[in-house]
Amino acid sequence: MSSSWKIETQAIQGGYTPKAGDPRVVTICQSTTFKYDNADHVTKLFDLEEPGFFYTRLGNPTTDAFEQKLAMMEGGVGALATSAGQAATTLSIFNICQAGQHFVTASTLYGGTYNLFACTLPKMGIEVSFVDPEAPADEILAAFRPNTKALFAETIGNPGLNVLDFAKFSAIAQEKGVPLIIDSTFATPYLCRPFEHGANVVVHSATKYIDGLATSVGGVIVDGGNFDWGNGRFPELTEPDSSYHGLQYVKTFGNLAYIIKARVQLMRDIGTTPSPFNSFLFTNGLQTLPLRMQRHSDNALALAQFLESHPSVSWVKYPGLSSHASHDRAQKYLPQGCSGVLTFGIKGGTEAGKKFMEACRLVALVVHVGDARSCVLHPASTTHRQLTAEQQTASGVTPDLIRLSVGIEHIDDIIADVDQALAASQK
Ligand SMILES: *Cc1c(COP(=O)(O)O)cnc(C)c1O
Repeated sequence: MSSSWKIETQAIQGGYTPKAGDPRVVTICQSTTFKYDNADHVTKLFDLEEPGFFYTRLGNPTTDAFEQKLAMMEGGVGALATSAGQAATTLSIFNICQAGQHFVTASTLYGGTYNLFACTLPKMGIEVSFVDPEAPADEILAAFRPNTKALFAETIGNPGLNVLDFAKFSAIAQEKGVPLIIDSTFATPYLCRPFEHGANVVVHSATKYIDGLATSVGGVIVDGGNFDWGNGRFPELTEPDSSYHGLQYVKTFGNLAYIIKARVQLMRDIGTTPSPFNSFLFTNGLQTLPLRMQRHSDNALALAQFLESHPSVSWVKYPGLSSHASHDRAQKYLPQGCSGVLTFGIKGGTEAGKKFMEACRLVALVVHVGDARSCVLHPASTTHRQLTAEQQTASGVTPDLIRLSVGIEHIDDIIADVDQALAASQK
């Protein structure tokens, strides 16, 4: 295996190297536990003195193959798969931030992450400050406190599809001595590898493009191995862990300290483990990720251009369009393409939006993104329905906003369907 391979080769060949007589394909190791001949060996495994599997909550060969392939594709040193993207985000924070401590996040977040940060983590005593990612650096720096432990952001943010200014964010994180944690779900390692731009930890919802066919919910944390946990701000990683008879993560595991702690301490105690079957599906998904992401991106750009010149459309947001505020940044950080999600404003507001969705035939009304099948959502009449008009506007969800997750069908068929649904929406 070679980390110097191009990402297309890593996607196919990485993570699993069968020996003579082994199955060619990663197998589904649907077993909770593993058998050993002598007690000493098991003791060594429990004491983390030897690598090996002993209980699927902590590690499993199928899940290991998925983790290794993705870690290689991201250019990280290790990964931990989780039962959902939400679990990956939660553990990525818990691993370094506890009650009485604080972190800073860009406010342009996936809705579930926004709730986690704004409601659930504060209930557990973790304080969170939200900053506008487009604010000048000194404004973002002002949100930091002596007990701040991380800076969090998404590569491509919600709902405006803003591309993160990695240079600004990584410089801020570095100045403050905290890791930059990036949710790169929309970009995937094919379109952007955040470690190359100063990120230290990457999280994904594998449910989206990594799976690619909408079969499984899952997540993953990837460790860049490029943060100095010994800088004095993270005693949990340098001081003895009383729950692991005095283990010191940095001393014992070097640049794998963060990801090993997440596994042996947090996954042990919290148990948000993926099923081996889902890990198998994610491993399969990764193999075609480069092909799919290129097609998603090409299709989305073509559809965005079509919509931009359509008389029933008042605006289009897609970072690949030169009209988008993040276009220059997209060219720098997403040179291959800008992923499959775009938003547009339909003339006629909520009523037209509902008519549009109901008129779509190929494009399906689904609460999802990142599927090979194109799908559409009108947030104002669905996911954000409970909010008042003012709250909707404040969260960026205007009544006319339609979100499309552009699939990998032939672009002509996607455009034809959207075109006829737009016509129906104006009747
Ligand atoms: C879907 C999503 C999540 C949450 O992932 P689940 O797998 O649904 O738990 C987090 N971040 C982003 C950007 C997402 O799109």
